[in-house]
Amino acid sequence: MLQLRPNCECCDVDLPGDSDAAWICSFECTFCTDCASARLDGRCPNCGGELLRRPRRAPEKLLKYPASAQRVSKPEGCGKRVA
Ligand SMILES: [Zn+2]
Ligand SMILES: [Zn+2]
Repeated sequence: MLQLRPNCECCDVDLPGDSDAAWICSFECTFCTDCASARLDGRCPNCGGELLRRPRRAPEKLLKYPASAQRVSKPEGCGKRVA
């Protein structure tokens, strides 16, 4: 099950579990649309993998399976590309 991290690693904007603006790599590094497209060009700066839009979790499922509350922030990795 996806963790649904609550924020963008680059700019720390909130990305709730029902947001359609969240992008993730296969390790669930999580970014907002602006960072994923404009700053990162669709590549994860941590692992070099592709970023795909994170599926939304339905509100009633979020009650039973809540999104992660642990914020992950690595702004130092953003802006410079991996290879
Ligand atoms: Zn961002
Ligand atoms: Zn990654």
